[in-house]
Amino acid sequence: MSDMTFALTDEQRALKAAVYELCKQYSPEYWRDLDAKREYPDAFVNELTKAGYLAALIPHEYGGAGLGIIEGGLILEEINRSGGNAGACHAQMYIMGTVLRHGSEAQKREYLPKIATGELRLQAFGVTEPNSGSDTTKLQTTALKTGDRYVVNGQKMFISRVLQSDLMLLLARTTPVDQVKRKTDGLSVFLVDIRGLKGFEVRPLRMMMNHSTNALFFDNVEIPASSLIGEEGKGFSYILDGMNAERILVASDSLGDGRWFIEKAVAYASQRVIFGKPIGANQGVQFPIARAHMAIEAADLMRTKAAKLFDASQPCGPEANMAKYLAAEAAWEAGNACIDAHGGYGYAEEYDIERKFREARLYKTAPINNNLVMAYVGEHVLGMPRSY
Ligand SMILES: Cc1cc2nc3c(=O)[nH]c(=O)nc-3n(C[C@H](O)[C@H](O)[C@H](O)COP(=O)(O)OP(=O)(O)OC[C@H]3O[C@@H](n4cnc5c(N)ncnc54)[C@H](O)[C@@H]3O)c2cc1C
Repeated sequence: MSDMTFALTDEQRALKAAVYELCKQYSPEYWRDLDAKREYPDAFVNELTKAGYLAALIPHEYGGAGLGIIEGGLILEEINRSGGNAGACHAQMYIMGTVLRHGSEAQKREYLPKIATGELRLQAFGVTEPNSGSDTTKLQTTALKTGDRYVVNGQKMFISRVLQSDLMLLLARTTPVDQVKRKTDGLSVFLVDIRGLKGFEVRPLRMMMNHSTNALFFDNVEIPASSLIGEEGKGFSYILDGMNAERILVASDSLGDGRWFIEKAVAYASQRVIFGKPIGANQGVQFPIARAHMAIEAADLMRTKAAKLFDASQPCGPEANMAKYLAAEAAWEAGNACIDAHGGYGYAEEYDIERKFREARLYKTAPINNNLVMAYVGEHVLGMPRSY
């Protein structure tokens, strides 16, 4: 990598400031109220879309801003640093990458410009299933070709933002596992128009945080054969291709959460006077905040390195995975330091810490749990035997 400065350009700093400014118009009460009702932040997502931020990674020729993953990450980071929840919309940035890299020219021309303007929303990504979990190749949802259609049957679990999307990217098995050479073969990716789809049922799940997450049921759902992305049977490798982007963007969510916790903790610890002095003057309060800040800064370096490699089309699997792990853990550490600094107030809804704490916790588990990131580093980076 030629550029190892890690300094943001003037344009990137201006982008961050503009996103933060927009986000600040959405008050803590806005997010708190939606969280209590488990409702989607429609107004916020529409405004982000109108401002072009959710189309940051779509190339100019398809109506987007043509920016890099580093800028995409900065946008998500600022949403979370401002107190909002980028989980409502972050997926659009990485899901559309599969269409961009592996879709036909006709699919790209049909969908990407409409996704860029917000005419179509692509926020849903259906991979996880009740019986396969992290072991994606064991998924049981099938899509069988009959004439000019595929017929889909099966279940998906924990699929987010389906009710807020027009399109969903779906991973399903098109060739039974006992008929393929490698278990990664025979899986295919579809871009499904889910509006009014017959036989498709969405059951919302009330989760720990406001994430619009659902169980999905497919009962002989017919989709046009033209929904297939790329070649039949190659879907697993297409999904893998998108994972580095996903890791870098989710790391950015966590960095924003961590920064929000630290800013909040520093402000409170500096003004809350107990035993005649600000509580932040005590090492027991100050040091966990300082330690969390160092962890966030270190994770930021790894996120930036991964993003720079990604934008330079260099391999970045280890860096993207490590960034996701480090940022999720650092945000969690920052969340704990923030709660501790606030004493009882850390648990009060009106301080928003408990909400952000729940939101930040997710990224230790999803989109990939941190154990599997360690397994990846142990096996693929350090060359140790496969642990599972
Ligand atoms: C709020 C929320 C939103 C989500 N949104 C989506 C979505 O939009 N689309 C989608 O496809 N999925 C989504 N997911 C699913 C998420 O990606 C999965 O929950 C995650 O990948 C783990 O799968 P699982 O829950 O089945 O856990 P399992 O795979 O059953 O694992 C359970 C635990 O066992 C551990 N474990 C499993 N195998 C190993 C191993 N080999 N070594 C060490 N530890 C191991 C893991 O650490 C994990 O914590 C979402 C999940 C949540 C909670």
